[in-house]
Amino acid sequence: MLSLIRKLTHALNCRDATRLVSQRQDRPLTTGEWFTLRLHLLVCVACSRFARQLRIMRKAMRRYTA
Ligand SMILES: [Zn+2]
Repeated sequence: MLSLIRKLTHALNCRDATRLVSQRQDRPLTTGEWFTLRLHLLVCVACSRFARQLRIMRKAMRRYTA
């Protein structure tokens, strides 16, 4: 079980993860992309921090352009 989780989280490296995080703002992710990204964000502090910052930034930007 642990090795399966490890395999799934390593299916996505940090570069791919951050790319998916920015892409999901513009297009819906496939189930596979979504799943591996969720898993990666669960175990990777750096990428989950990036995802949170991007979300805050997008929110702030919407406020200024509205
Ligand atoms: Zn990462």
